[in-house]
Amino acid sequence: MASLRSGTGVQVVTPSEDHTFLLDEDALQKLLLQPDVKDRPVVLLSVAGAYRKGKSFLLDFFLRYLDHTYNNGDGGGEWLGTEDEALKGFPWLGGSERHTTGIHLWSQPFKATTSSGEKVVILLMDTQGTFDSNSTVKDNATVFALSTMLSSVLIYNLSQNIEEDDLQHLQLFTEYGRVALDEIGGKPFQRLQFLVRDWSFAYDHPYGSVGGEQLLKKRLLVRETQHEELQKVRQDIARCFEEVTCFLLPHPGLKVSTDPHFTGKLSDIDPEFKSCLKKLVPMLLAPENLVPKQIGGQKVKARDLLNYFKSYVDVFNSEELPNPMTILQATAEANNTSASSEARNVYETLMEEICGGTKPYLPPQVLEQEHHKCLNKALHSFDSKKKMGGEEMATKFKQLLVKDLEDLFDQLKAHNESKNMYRMFSTPAVFAALFLC
Ligand code: GDP
Ligand code: MG
Repeated sequence: MASLRSGTGVQVVTPSEDHTFLLDEDALQKLLLQPDVKDRPVVLLSVAGAYRKGKSFLLDFFLRYLDHTYNNGDGGGEWLGTEDEALKGFPWLGGSERHTTGIHLWSQPFKATTSSGEKVVILLMDTQGTFDSNSTVKDNATVFALSTMLSSVLIYNLSQNIEEDDLQHLQLFTEYGRVALDEIGGKPFQRLQFLVRDWSFAYDHPYGSVGGEQLLKKRLLVRETQHEELQKVRQDIARCFEEVTCFLLPHPGLKVSTDPHFTGKLSDIDPEFKSCLKKLVPMLLAPENLVPKQIGGQKVKARDLLNYFKSYVDVFNSEELPNPMTILQATAEANNTSASSEARNVYETLMEEICGGTKPYLPPQVLEQEHHKCLNKALHSFDSKKKMGGEEMATKFKQLLVKDLEDLFDQLKAHNESKNMYRMFSTPAVFAALFLC
Protein backbone atom coordinates (compact mmCIF):
# COMPACT_ATOMS: atom_id res chain seq x y z
CA MET A 1 0.00 0.00 0.00
CA ALA A 2 1.33 3.45 -0.94
CA SER A 3 2.36 5.46 2.06
CA LEU A 4 0.59 8.64 2.99
CA ARG A 5 3.81 10.52 2.33
CA SER A 6 3.53 9.79 -1.39
CA GLY A 7 0.13 11.48 -1.62
CA THR A 8 -0.53 15.14 -2.26
CA GLY A 9 -3.32 17.67 -2.58
CA VAL A 10 -4.45 17.84 -6.20
CA GLN A 11 -5.95 21.09 -7.37
CA VAL A 12 -9.10 20.32 -9.33
CA VAL A 13 -10.82 23.71 -9.36
CA THR A 14 -8.84 26.93 -9.82
CA PRO A 15 -10.20 30.47 -9.80
CA SER A 16 -9.03 32.68 -12.64
CA GLU A 17 -8.55 36.43 -12.96
CA ASP A 18 -12.00 36.98 -14.48
CA HIS A 19 -13.64 35.22 -11.51
CA THR A 20 -14.61 32.12 -13.39
CA PHE A 21 -13.38 28.71 -12.30
CA LEU A 22 -11.27 26.23 -14.21
CA LEU A 23 -11.89 22.53 -13.79
CA ASP A 24 -8.91 20.21 -14.24
CA GLU A 25 -10.75 17.32 -15.85
CA ASP A 26 -7.60 15.29 -16.46
CA ALA A 27 -6.62 15.39 -12.82
CA LEU A 28 -10.15 14.45 -11.79
CA GLN A 29 -10.29 11.56 -14.25
CA LYS A 30 -6.97 10.25 -13.02
CA LEU A 31 -8.33 10.23 -9.51
CA LEU A 32 -11.89 9.05 -10.07
CA LEU A 33 -11.60 6.65 -12.98
CA GLN A 34 -9.05 4.29 -11.44
CA PRO A 35 -10.31 0.75 -12.14
CA ASP A 36 -10.80 -0.21 -8.49
CA VAL A 37 -12.33 3.16 -7.61
CA LYS A 38 -14.68 4.24 -10.41
CA ASP A 39 -17.62 2.00 -9.51
CA ARG A 40 -17.57 2.58 -5.76
CA PRO A 41 -20.01 4.93 -4.05
CA VAL A 42 -18.22 8.05 -2.87
CA VAL A 43 -17.97 9.34 0.67
CA LEU A 44 -16.80 12.93 0.23
CA LEU A 45 -15.77 15.01 3.22
CA SER A 46 -15.25 18.67 2.58
CA VAL A 47 -13.99 21.27 5.03
CA ALA A 48 -15.22 24.77 4.21
CA GLY A 49 -15.12 28.15 5.92
CA ALA A 50 -12.97 31.25 6.33
CA TYR A 51 -9.24 31.12 5.63
CA ARG A 52 -6.58 30.61 8.31
CA LYS A 53 -8.90 28.84 10.66
CA GLY A 54 -7.11 25.50 10.72
CA LYS A 55 -9.03 23.64 7.99
CA SER A 56 -6.01 22.10 6.26
CA PHE A 57 -4.40 21.40 9.64
CA LEU A 58 -7.49 19.43 10.66
CA LEU A 59 -7.65 17.57 7.35
CA ASP A 60 -4.13 16.29 7.96
CA PHE A 61 -5.37 14.54 11.08
CA PHE A 62 -8.17 13.04 8.98
CA LEU A 63 -5.45 11.71 6.66
CA ARG A 64 -3.63 10.12 9.57
CA TYR A 65 -6.80 8.42 10.72
CA LEU A 66 -7.68 7.20 7.21
CA ASP A 67 -4.20 5.90 6.58
CA HIS A 68 -4.13 4.09 9.90
CA THR A 69 -7.64 2.65 9.67
CA TYR A 70 -8.01 1.77 6.00
CA ASN A 71 -4.47 1.36 4.66
CA ASN A 72 -2.81 -0.40 7.54
CA GLY A 73 -5.02 -3.38 8.14
CA ASP A 74 -6.16 -3.78 11.72
CA GLY A 75 -6.88 -0.15 12.59
CA GLY A 76 -5.73 -0.83 16.14
CA GLY A 77 -3.22 1.23 18.09
CA GLU A 78 -2.77 4.96 18.11
CA TRP A 79 -3.80 6.72 14.92
CA LEU A 80 -2.99 10.22 16.14
CA GLY A 81 0.73 9.55 15.59
CA THR A 82 3.88 9.91 17.63
CA GLU A 83 4.73 12.92 19.77
CA ASP A 84 7.51 14.36 17.62
CA GLU A 85 6.26 13.69 14.10
CA ALA A 86 5.70 16.72 11.83
CA LEU A 87 2.17 16.99 10.45
CA LYS A 88 2.09 16.37 6.69
CA GLY A 89 -0.58 16.30 4.02
CA PHE A 90 -2.55 19.28 2.76
CA PRO A 91 -0.25 22.27 3.28
CA TRP A 92 -1.20 24.35 6.30
CA LEU A 93 0.61 27.47 7.25
CA GLY A 94 1.11 30.20 9.76
CA GLY A 95 1.13 33.80 8.57
CA SER A 96 -1.77 35.57 7.02
CA GLU A 97 -1.19 34.74 3.32
CA ARG A 98 -3.63 32.40 1.70
CA HIS A 99 -2.05 29.41 0.03
CA THR A 100 -4.94 27.18 -0.87
CA THR A 101 -7.04 28.64 -3.61
CA GLY A 102 -9.97 26.86 -5.16
CA ILE A 103 -10.59 23.19 -4.45
CA HIS A 104 -8.08 20.43 -3.77
CA LEU A 105 -8.68 16.70 -3.41
CA TRP A 106 -6.27 14.30 -1.76
CA SER A 107 -4.54 12.28 -4.48
CA GLN A 108 -5.07 8.93 -2.78
CA PRO A 109 -8.67 7.75 -2.58
CA PHE A 110 -9.13 5.58 0.53
CA LYS A 111 -10.94 2.33 -0.11
CA ALA A 112 -13.15 1.32 2.78
CA THR A 113 -15.94 -1.06 3.69
CA THR A 114 -18.80 0.40 5.70
CA SER A 115 -20.22 -1.47 8.69
CA SER A 116 -23.09 -2.63 6.46
CA GLY A 117 -20.54 -4.27 4.15
CA GLU A 118 -20.65 -1.76 1.32
CA LYS A 119 -17.39 -1.05 -0.49
CA VAL A 120 -16.94 2.70 -0.81
CA VAL A 121 -14.20 5.19 -1.54
CA ILE A 122 -13.43 8.11 0.74
CA LEU A 123 -12.28 11.42 -0.73
CA LEU A 124 -11.10 14.47 1.18
CA MET A 125 -11.70 17.99 -0.11
CA ASP A 126 -9.82 21.09 1.01
CA THR A 127 -11.20 24.46 -0.04
CA GLN A 128 -10.03 28.00 -0.55
CA GLY A 129 -10.47 30.20 2.44
CA THR A 130 -13.91 31.62 1.88
CA PHE A 131 -15.15 35.05 2.84
CA ASP A 132 -11.70 36.65 3.00
CA SER A 133 -10.88 40.12 1.72
CA ASN A 134 -8.94 39.14 -1.42
CA SER A 135 -11.70 37.26 -3.13
CA THR A 136 -14.90 38.62 -4.44
CA VAL A 137 -18.17 37.59 -2.92
CA LYS A 138 -18.85 35.45 -5.97
CA ASP A 139 -15.57 33.53 -5.73
CA ASN A 140 -16.24 32.74 -2.12
CA ALA A 141 -19.82 31.77 -2.65
CA THR A 142 -18.85 29.56 -5.58
CA VAL A 143 -16.26 27.56 -3.67
CA PHE A 144 -18.62 27.17 -0.76
CA ALA A 145 -21.43 26.15 -3.11
CA LEU A 146 -19.32 23.57 -4.96
CA SER A 147 -18.18 22.03 -1.75
CA THR A 148 -21.72 21.87 -0.36
CA MET A 149 -23.21 20.42 -3.54
CA LEU A 150 -20.48 17.81 -4.01
CA SER A 151 -19.85 16.57 -0.48
CA SER A 152 -21.73 14.01 1.58
CA VAL A 153 -20.30 15.48 4.75
CA LEU A 154 -19.85 19.22 4.85
CA ILE A 155 -17.69 20.32 7.73
CA TYR A 156 -18.47 23.95 8.28
CA ASN A 157 -15.37 25.21 10.06
CA LEU A 158 -16.11 28.27 12.19
CA SER A 159 -14.02 30.34 14.52
CA GLN A 160 -15.16 30.76 18.10
CA ASN A 161 -18.93 30.64 17.64
CA ILE A 162 -21.87 30.17 15.26
CA GLU A 163 -22.89 33.63 14.08
CA GLU A 164 -25.89 34.87 12.10
CA ASP A 165 -23.71 35.34 9.02
CA ASP A 166 -22.63 31.73 9.14
CA LEU A 167 -26.22 30.60 8.91
CA GLN A 168 -26.96 33.11 6.17
CA HIS A 169 -24.29 31.52 3.95
CA LEU A 170 -26.40 28.38 3.96
CA GLN A 171 -29.40 30.16 2.49
CA LEU A 172 -28.72 29.24 -1.14
CA PHE A 173 -28.67 25.56 -0.20
CA THR A 174 -31.75 25.62 1.92
CA GLU A 175 -33.52 27.35 -0.98
CA TYR A 176 -32.13 24.80 -3.39
CA GLY A 177 -33.25 22.15 -0.93
CA ARG A 178 -36.77 23.47 -0.99
CA VAL A 179 -37.07 23.26 -4.78
CA ALA A 180 -35.23 19.93 -4.87
CA LEU A 181 -37.34 18.26 -2.19
CA ASP A 182 -40.32 17.79 -4.50
CA GLU A 183 -38.15 16.41 -7.28
CA ILE A 184 -36.29 13.96 -5.13
CA GLY A 185 -38.81 12.99 -2.53
CA GLY A 186 -35.99 12.88 0.02
CA LYS A 187 -33.51 15.22 1.61
CA PRO A 188 -31.03 16.62 -0.92
CA PHE A 189 -28.03 16.76 1.43
CA GLN A 190 -26.59 14.28 3.86
CA ARG A 191 -24.56 15.56 6.75
CA LEU A 192 -23.81 19.07 7.93
CA GLN A 193 -21.22 19.22 10.67
CA PHE A 194 -20.70 22.57 12.33
CA LEU A 195 -17.22 22.66 13.82
CA VAL A 196 -16.49 25.51 16.17
CA ARG A 197 -12.76 26.14 16.72
CA ASP A 198 -11.24 27.88 19.74
CA TRP A 199 -14.43 27.46 21.73
CA SER A 200 -13.85 29.37 24.93
CA PHE A 201 -17.08 29.00 26.86
CA ALA A 202 -16.70 25.43 28.03
CA TYR A 203 -18.38 26.43 31.30
CA ASP A 204 -21.56 27.18 29.29
CA HIS A 205 -21.35 24.28 26.87
CA PRO A 206 -18.67 21.60 27.27
CA TYR A 207 -16.22 20.72 24.47
CA GLY A 208 -17.23 17.95 22.10
CA SER A 209 -20.55 16.90 20.67
CA VAL A 210 -22.71 17.32 23.79
CA GLY A 211 -21.85 21.00 24.12
CA GLY A 212 -22.07 21.28 20.33
CA GLU A 213 -25.63 19.99 20.30
CA GLN A 214 -26.61 22.42 23.07
CA LEU A 215 -25.14 25.36 21.18
CA LEU A 216 -26.69 24.29 17.90
CA LYS A 217 -30.12 23.95 19.42
CA LYS A 218 -29.84 27.47 20.76
CA ARG A 219 -28.62 28.90 17.45
CA LEU A 220 -31.26 27.14 15.37
CA LEU A 221 -34.10 28.29 17.56
CA VAL A 222 -36.61 30.28 15.52
CA ARG A 223 -37.71 33.55 17.08
CA GLU A 224 -40.35 36.03 15.99
CA THR A 225 -37.84 38.86 16.29
CA GLN A 226 -35.48 37.37 13.67
CA HIS A 227 -35.46 38.57 10.11
CA GLU A 228 -37.89 36.47 8.09
CA GLU A 229 -35.15 35.06 5.82
CA LEU A 230 -33.15 33.90 8.78
CA GLN A 231 -36.20 32.25 10.30
CA LYS A 232 -36.64 30.39 7.03
CA VAL A 233 -33.00 29.24 6.84
CA ARG A 234 -33.29 27.88 10.36
CA GLN A 235 -36.49 25.99 9.60
CA ASP A 236 -35.13 24.63 6.34
CA ILE A 237 -31.74 23.39 7.53
CA ALA A 238 -33.36 20.44 9.26
CA ARG A 239 -35.51 19.67 6.21
CA CYS A 240 -32.59 19.75 3.75
CA PHE A 241 -29.90 17.81 5.62
CA GLU A 242 -30.37 14.28 6.86
CA GLU A 243 -28.20 15.04 9.84
CA VAL A 244 -27.04 18.29 11.39
CA THR A 245 -24.49 18.11 14.18
CA CYS A 246 -22.09 20.39 15.97
CA PHE A 247 -18.79 19.84 17.76
CA LEU A 248 -16.89 22.30 19.94
CA LEU A 249 -13.09 22.18 19.76
CA PRO A 250 -10.89 23.89 22.34
CA HIS A 251 -8.01 26.20 21.41
CA PRO A 252 -5.03 24.00 20.38
CA GLY A 253 -2.50 26.05 22.37
CA LEU A 254 -0.30 29.04 21.62
CA LYS A 255 2.43 27.05 19.87
CA VAL A 256 -0.11 26.04 17.22
CA SER A 257 -1.54 29.50 16.72
CA THR A 258 1.51 31.74 17.10
CA ASP A 259 4.85 29.89 16.90
CA PRO A 260 6.35 30.37 13.40
CA HIS A 261 8.51 27.26 13.92
CA PHE A 262 5.62 24.98 14.84
CA THR A 263 5.69 21.88 12.62
CA GLY A 264 2.56 20.16 13.85
CA LYS A 265 4.24 17.96 16.45
CA LEU A 266 1.74 16.44 18.87
CA SER A 267 3.96 17.38 21.81
CA ASP A 268 3.28 21.05 20.97
CA ILE A 269 -0.49 20.67 20.92
CA ASP A 270 -2.76 21.12 23.92
CA PRO A 271 -3.83 17.72 25.42
CA GLU A 272 -7.48 18.75 25.58
CA PHE A 273 -7.44 19.51 21.84
CA LYS A 274 -5.89 16.11 21.09
CA SER A 275 -8.40 14.30 23.22
CA CYS A 276 -11.23 16.08 21.38
CA LEU A 277 -9.69 15.13 18.02
CA LYS A 278 -9.71 11.50 19.10
CA LYS A 279 -13.46 11.75 19.54
CA LEU A 280 -14.28 13.93 16.54
CA VAL A 281 -12.38 12.15 13.76
CA PRO A 282 -13.84 8.63 14.24
CA MET A 283 -17.31 10.24 14.47
CA LEU A 284 -16.77 11.29 10.88
CA LEU A 285 -14.62 8.53 9.44
CA ALA A 286 -15.05 5.23 11.32
CA PRO A 287 -16.64 2.50 9.12
CA GLU A 288 -19.95 2.72 11.00
CA ASN A 289 -20.15 6.49 10.49
CA LEU A 290 -19.33 6.79 6.78
CA VAL A 291 -22.01 8.60 4.80
CA PRO A 292 -22.08 7.93 1.04
CA LYS A 293 -22.99 10.84 -1.21
CA GLN A 294 -26.51 10.70 -2.62
CA ILE A 295 -28.06 12.84 -5.31
CA GLY A 296 -31.68 12.40 -6.35
CA GLY A 297 -32.02 9.40 -4.05
CA GLN A 298 -29.14 7.53 -5.75
CA LYS A 299 -25.68 6.84 -4.44
CA VAL A 300 -23.05 8.71 -6.44
CA LYS A 301 -20.23 6.55 -7.78
CA ALA A 302 -16.74 7.96 -8.31
CA ARG A 303 -17.25 8.17 -12.06
CA ASP A 304 -20.60 9.94 -11.64
CA LEU A 305 -18.91 12.51 -9.46
CA LEU A 306 -16.99 13.64 -12.52
CA ASN A 307 -20.27 14.61 -14.23
CA TYR A 308 -21.46 16.53 -11.20
CA PHE A 309 -18.17 18.42 -10.99
CA LYS A 310 -18.51 19.42 -14.66
CA SER A 311 -22.16 20.47 -14.40
CA TYR A 312 -21.74 22.49 -11.24
CA VAL A 313 -18.58 24.28 -12.34
CA ASP A 314 -20.36 25.15 -15.61
CA VAL A 315 -23.44 26.46 -13.90
CA PHE A 316 -21.51 28.53 -11.36
CA ASN A 317 -19.36 29.97 -14.15
CA SER A 318 -22.30 30.93 -16.28
CA GLU A 319 -24.18 33.21 -13.96
CA GLU A 320 -23.47 35.82 -11.36
CA LEU A 321 -24.86 33.47 -8.73
CA PRO A 322 -27.21 30.87 -10.11
CA ASN A 323 -30.65 30.54 -8.61
CA PRO A 324 -31.83 27.29 -7.03
CA MET A 325 -33.83 26.30 -10.11
CA THR A 326 -30.75 26.55 -12.35
CA ILE A 327 -28.75 24.43 -9.93
CA LEU A 328 -31.52 21.89 -9.89
CA GLN A 329 -31.48 21.79 -13.68
CA ALA A 330 -27.71 21.24 -13.68
CA THR A 331 -28.11 18.44 -11.14
CA ALA A 332 -30.75 16.75 -13.25
CA GLU A 333 -28.59 17.00 -16.35
CA ALA A 334 -25.58 15.47 -14.60
CA ASN A 335 -27.91 12.82 -13.29
CA ASN A 336 -29.10 11.92 -16.80
CA THR A 337 -25.54 12.09 -18.16
CA SER A 338 -24.49 9.50 -15.57
CA ALA A 339 -27.36 7.21 -16.51
CA SER A 340 -26.39 7.58 -20.19
CA SER A 341 -22.73 6.75 -19.61
CA GLU A 342 -23.69 3.71 -17.57
CA ALA A 343 -25.96 2.57 -20.41
CA ARG A 344 -23.17 3.14 -22.95
CA ASN A 345 -20.94 1.06 -20.77
CA VAL A 346 -23.47 -1.77 -20.78
CA TYR A 347 -23.63 -1.66 -24.58
CA GLU A 348 -19.87 -1.51 -25.05
CA THR A 349 -19.17 -4.38 -22.68
CA LEU A 350 -21.78 -6.65 -24.27
CA MET A 351 -20.73 -5.85 -27.83
CA GLU A 352 -17.06 -6.33 -26.99
CA GLU A 353 -17.93 -9.93 -26.11
CA ILE A 354 -19.63 -10.37 -29.47
CA CYS A 355 -17.47 -8.53 -31.96
CA GLY A 356 -14.45 -7.17 -30.08
CA GLY A 357 -10.98 -7.05 -31.63
CA THR A 358 -10.17 -10.69 -30.91
CA LYS A 359 -13.54 -12.07 -32.03
CA PRO A 360 -14.04 -13.60 -35.49
CA TYR A 361 -15.95 -12.00 -38.36
CA LEU A 362 -19.76 -12.18 -38.05
CA PRO A 363 -22.28 -12.12 -40.91
CA PRO A 364 -23.89 -8.63 -41.01
CA GLN A 365 -27.41 -9.83 -40.18
CA VAL A 366 -26.18 -11.67 -37.08
CA LEU A 367 -24.29 -8.59 -35.97
CA GLU A 368 -27.40 -6.46 -36.53
CA GLN A 369 -29.49 -8.78 -34.35
CA GLU A 370 -26.91 -8.70 -31.59
CA HIS A 371 -26.78 -4.91 -31.80
CA HIS A 372 -30.54 -4.70 -31.22
CA LYS A 373 -30.35 -7.00 -28.22
CA CYS A 374 -27.51 -5.01 -26.66
CA LEU A 375 -29.19 -1.69 -27.47
CA ASN A 376 -32.32 -2.85 -25.66
CA LYS A 377 -30.33 -3.89 -22.65
CA ALA A 378 -28.56 -0.52 -22.60
CA LEU A 379 -31.86 1.35 -22.85
CA HIS A 380 -33.28 -0.80 -20.10
CA SER A 381 -30.31 0.17 -17.92
CA PHE A 382 -30.99 3.84 -18.68
CA ASP A 383 -34.73 3.53 -17.92
CA SER A 384 -34.21 1.67 -14.69
CA LYS A 385 -32.05 4.45 -13.20
CA LYS A 386 -33.94 6.88 -11.04
CA LYS A 387 -33.44 10.29 -12.63
CA MET A 388 -34.28 13.87 -11.83
CA GLY A 389 -35.63 16.32 -14.40
CA GLY A 390 -38.81 14.47 -15.37
CA GLU A 391 -39.91 12.60 -18.51
CA GLU A 392 -39.03 15.41 -20.87
CA MET A 393 -35.37 15.53 -19.92
CA ALA A 394 -35.08 11.74 -19.82
CA THR A 395 -36.54 11.50 -23.35
CA LYS A 396 -34.04 14.04 -24.64
CA PHE A 397 -31.13 12.15 -23.12
CA LYS A 398 -32.48 8.83 -24.34
CA GLN A 399 -32.63 10.09 -27.92
CA LEU A 400 -29.03 11.27 -27.69
CA LEU A 401 -28.06 7.91 -26.23
CA VAL A 402 -29.66 5.98 -29.08
CA LYS A 403 -27.90 8.20 -31.62
CA ASP A 404 -24.60 7.71 -29.81
CA LEU A 405 -24.99 3.93 -29.73
CA GLU A 406 -26.02 3.81 -33.40
CA ASP A 407 -22.81 5.73 -34.26
CA LEU A 408 -20.86 3.32 -32.18
CA PHE A 409 -22.51 0.43 -34.00
CA ASP A 410 -21.47 1.91 -37.36
CA GLN A 411 -17.86 1.80 -36.21
CA LEU A 412 -18.23 -1.77 -34.98
CA LYS A 413 -19.82 -2.74 -38.30
CA ALA A 414 -16.90 -1.25 -40.23
CA HIS A 415 -14.48 -3.04 -37.99
CA ASN A 416 -16.32 -6.31 -38.52
CA GLU A 417 -16.15 -5.80 -42.31
CA SER A 418 -12.41 -5.22 -42.13
CA LYS A 419 -12.10 -8.65 -40.54
CA ASN A 420 -13.98 -10.04 -43.56
CA MET A 421 -11.60 -8.37 -46.02
CA TYR A 422 -8.68 -9.67 -44.08
CA ARG A 423 -10.19 -13.14 -44.25
CA MET A 424 -10.62 -12.86 -48.00
CA PHE A 425 -7.10 -11.70 -48.57
CA SER A 426 -5.63 -14.25 -46.27
CA THR A 427 -7.37 -17.11 -48.10
CA PRO A 428 -4.84 -18.51 -50.65
CA ALA A 429 -7.51 -19.17 -53.31
CA VAL A 430 -8.73 -15.57 -53.31
CA PHE A 431 -5.21 -14.30 -53.28
CA ALA A 432 -4.28 -16.47 -56.28
CA ALA A 433 -7.46 -15.53 -58.15
CA LEU A 434 -6.71 -11.84 -57.75
CA PHE A 435 -3.25 -12.16 -59.21
CA LEU A 436 -4.13 -14.53 -62.04
CA CYS A 437 -6.78 -12.34 -63.60
P1 GDP B 1 -6.84 27.16 6.70
O1 GDP B 1 -6.51 28.37 5.89
O2 GDP B 1 -8.21 27.27 7.31
O3 GDP B 1 -6.64 25.89 5.94
O4 GDP B 1 -5.84 27.16 7.94
P2 GDP B 1 -4.49 26.28 8.17
O5 GDP B 1 -4.83 24.86 8.41
O6 GDP B 1 -3.51 26.58 7.10
O7 GDP B 1 -4.01 26.88 9.55
C1 GDP B 1 -3.71 28.25 9.70
C2 GDP B 1 -3.00 28.52 11.03
O8 GDP B 1 -3.87 28.23 12.11
C3 GDP B 1 -1.77 27.64 11.25
O9 GDP B 1 -0.76 28.45 11.80
C4 GDP B 1 -2.21 26.60 12.25
O10 GDP B 1 -1.14 26.21 13.09
C5 GDP B 1 -3.25 27.35 13.06
N1 GDP B 1 -4.32 26.50 13.62
C6 GDP B 1 -4.66 25.22 13.28
N2 GDP B 1 -5.72 24.82 14.01
C7 GDP B 1 -6.07 25.85 14.81
C8 GDP B 1 -7.10 26.04 15.80
O11 GDP B 1 -7.96 25.18 16.06
N3 GDP B 1 -7.11 27.26 16.42
C9 GDP B 1 -6.20 28.25 16.16
N4 GDP B 1 -6.29 29.40 16.84
N5 GDP B 1 -5.23 28.11 15.24
C10 GDP B 1 -5.17 26.93 14.57
MG1 MG C 1 -5.96 25.63 4.03
